[in-house]
Amino acid sequence: MIRKKILATGGAGFVGSHLCERLLNEGHEVYCLDNFFTGQKQNIIHLLNNPNFELIRHDVINPFLIEVDEIYNLACPASPIHYKYNPIKTIKTSVMGAINMLGLAKRVKAKILQASTSEVYGNPLVHPQPEGYWGNVNPIGERSCYDEGKRAAETLFNDYHKQNQVKIKIVRIFNTYGPRMHPNDGRVVSNFIVQALKNQDITVYGEGQQTRSFQYVDDLVEGMIKMMESEDRITGPVNIGNPDEFTILELAEKVINLTGSKSKIIYKPLPSDDPMMRKPDITLAKTHLDWAPHMKLDEGLIKTIEYFKTII
Ligand code: NAD
Ligand code: UDP
Repeated sequence: MIRKKILATGGAGFVGSHLCERLLNEGHEVYCLDNFFTGQKQNIIHLLNNPNFELIRHDVINPFLIEVDEIYNLACPASPIHYKYNPIKTIKTSVMGAINMLGLAKRVKAKILQASTSEVYGNPLVHPQPEGYWGNVNPIGERSCYDEGKRAAETLFNDYHKQNQVKIKIVRIFNTYGPRMHPNDGRVVSNFIVQALKNQDITVYGEGQQTRSFQYVDDLVEGMIKMMESEDRITGPVNIGNPDEFTILELAEKVINLTGSKSKIIYKPLPSDDPMMRKPDITLAKTHLDWAPHMKLDEGLIKTIEYFKTII
């Protein structure tokens, strides 16, 4: 194995902390950069004594210089509650963060991977979503700061590749869950598990007939690393997600059953621009990366429930 110096922005977040851990386990030197907006020290506290791990408090909207071989660019609030909280900061993080990290990659000749999102497809009119679908995104809605920020970041990645030959990789991540999700970030899996463990009402938005396809965080990390290690000609975007699709109501029932909770399901208004369906077409990931998710939803939920039991 070649030992690499790797920068992970957003490394103290949910996905970033799993990525840092995995890269350290593979013997790399990991620089975890985070401004701790939604990330938590608790997520990476077990890594702090590792001599190959360094934590850097920094905001990606400001330039940053470091000699590294690879950059994983994850810095961005990811849950609707957090990205809507300060929408201007959200789009600045995506766009200026991408410019700063791409500038760094160009200068030090690092390979750079962008954590893009299934939100680039908006409320999709094509189902399941292949990478060739351009999406159906409202440019001035509640989710636009996130969706359009991530879309602009993809454009920047692509243009730095074409204009400056930067080695880029774009993955479009679909709904991911697992241990270290923030208990208060309002995402559906964490909300339902926390509500179920506290025997509180389970809040289903709308009629619960909207669908999502949930992937376990270890599958995502495996896909991101395979993408980073793929041949240079594979720049993406490549969907990374689990195609097993469930309605939100089905998820609520699963969580109630798996926790043995006394919670009741209640219905609340559907937030605006909430996509009605989402499921990845993962043909490209299978053929180019030899990647497919392994974790079944029930199995992954059990692991996640165990984690939430320890923090509640
Ligand atoms: P998260 O909120 O747990 O992690 C994001 C991290 O970025 C946090 O540690 C946060 O403090 C940090 N951050 C935010 N703004 C920053 C800034 N300006 N400068 C430096 N650090 C900053 O979210 P996550 O679920 O781990 O998501 C990680 C990445 O994956 C995000 O880019 C997100 O858009 C993408 N993604 C996640 C999902 C998912 O389901 N979890 C789905 C699609 C895409
Ligand atoms: N959702 C819900 N109850 C909750 C939180 C979310 O019914 O307590 C719904 C939400 O409206 C959406 C889906 O679950 O349709 C997934 O929401 P999440 O915020 O996890 O992710 P995203 O909408 O970005 O896919």
